[in-house]
Amino acid sequence: MAIQSIKGFKDLLPSDTERWDQIEREARRIFSLYGYEEIRTPILEFTEVFSRSIGEVTDIVEKEMYTFPDRDGRSVTMRPEGTAGVVRACIEHALPSKSPAHKLFYMGPMFRHERPQAGRLRQFHQIGVEVLGPSGPSVDVEIIALLADILDSLEVREGSLLLNSIGCPVCRPDYLASLRAFLEERRDRFCENCRRRIAANTLRVLDCKVSACREATADAPAFSQHLCPACDAHFDAVRRGLTGLGIDFVPAPRLVRGLDYYTRTTFEWVTDRLGAQNAVAAGGRYDGLARALGGPDLPGSGFALGVERLVALCAGPLPPPRPLAFFALLGEEAARLADPVVRRMRREGIRVERDLLGGSLKSQLRRADKAGASLVVIIGDEEIKRGAAVVRDMNEKTQAEFSLSDLPEIIARHLQPSSSGR
Ligand code: ATP
Ligand code: MG
Repeated sequence: MAIQSIKGFKDLLPSDTERWDQIEREARRIFSLYGYEEIRTPILEFTEVFSRSIGEVTDIVEKEMYTFPDRDGRSVTMRPEGTAGVVRACIEHALPSKSPAHKLFYMGPMFRHERPQAGRLRQFHQIGVEVLGPSGPSVDVEIIALLADILDSLEVREGSLLLNSIGCPVCRPDYLASLRAFLEERRDRFCENCRRRIAANTLRVLDCKVSACREATADAPAFSQHLCPACDAHFDAVRRGLTGLGIDFVPAPRLVRGLDYYTRTTFEWVTDRLGAQNAVAAGGRYDGLARALGGPDLPGSGFALGVERLVALCAGPLPPPRPLAFFALLGEEAARLADPVVRRMRREGIRVERDLLGGSLKSQLRRADKAGASLVVIIGDEEIKRGAAVVRDMNEKTQAEFSLSDLPEIIARHLQPSSSGR
């Protein structure tokens, strides 16, 4: 039997990558408008990068990481998310000493050993941003606006923004104590995982997907009632900022992040169009992360957008391809004459395909049609004698003969008016 790909690891074929390309291009365009710069960190990191930042008692670290000893015996992990590596890189390269604010974005594959299903893969892709340095609410508002603009530019308009604050080290202990007391009283109603989490990672109980657990926490105490004055002011400013930008949000008192380093603002962009996997993007503030990784105090805020889930939501049109000229070549001499012209045109920015399969003129024309060519250049023995080529307009169904040397100019002129596609 032929070798197959690993379960949960998916190929993207040319019929898929057009949409991916559009998404990445739109995201890059918007990042540049907002002044975000790209960072590319390695896929493989020492395991501590994730275990120290994500937290030992989390689904990701306990069950989902691709962790193995490398040949030198060090434990390494394929990144399950982007933030930890970005912050590790910022500390390692002392970026905070070079500038007080870094606005970064990344895109690329992440790896989690989860049960593969619709919208849940073992290699999936995220587009994310991290703002490191500034700690104010304007950053949180800005990244949410940026996310909204990416979704909007891809015509993904259904969905809601869930918003919460999960406080800071000043007010969290107090809140956790009251939450823990609430959960302990209902211990019997929780799944085994949650029973363990009550002591080990209390906040995460609110995040459990088991419906009995969700019901049991329906009227759990809300963090917003326990925020310290500084967190309260921050949360209030974020809400006012979003309202000022016309961005709707839904207060979500049970929205907590699975990752321990998050502080204050947390948000998630959800939709009911994706079944159980309803989260398209998730993010928030993580003022404690750099410290947890052995770095300086470095406030941060960011989000990660799941590309596979976004692809499933994109229904808008793909940008039209640039107009195409197709060279149908009959014989070796035709190829010898045409190839320098084809190359010159490509170097001048004209999209040109040259037939590679040979055969009759009829079969080459059929391929030109299938490729969506608007012009076909035909060169056969008769044309060669005259140093010419026949140019056929596939839309108008007309054709005319031109000298080979005039071809690039004639074709460029012909294809120009609508040549703004991809
Ligand atoms: P979920 O609740 O769906 O497990 P999560 O909380 O684990 O999500 P995050 O770590 O916040 O997800 O990642 C941000 C985004 O990345 C998610 O909103 C989702 O779009 C995407 N994502 C996460 N895990 C996967 C996966 N296994 N397959 C596909 N996309 C994923
Ligand atoms: Mg998950």
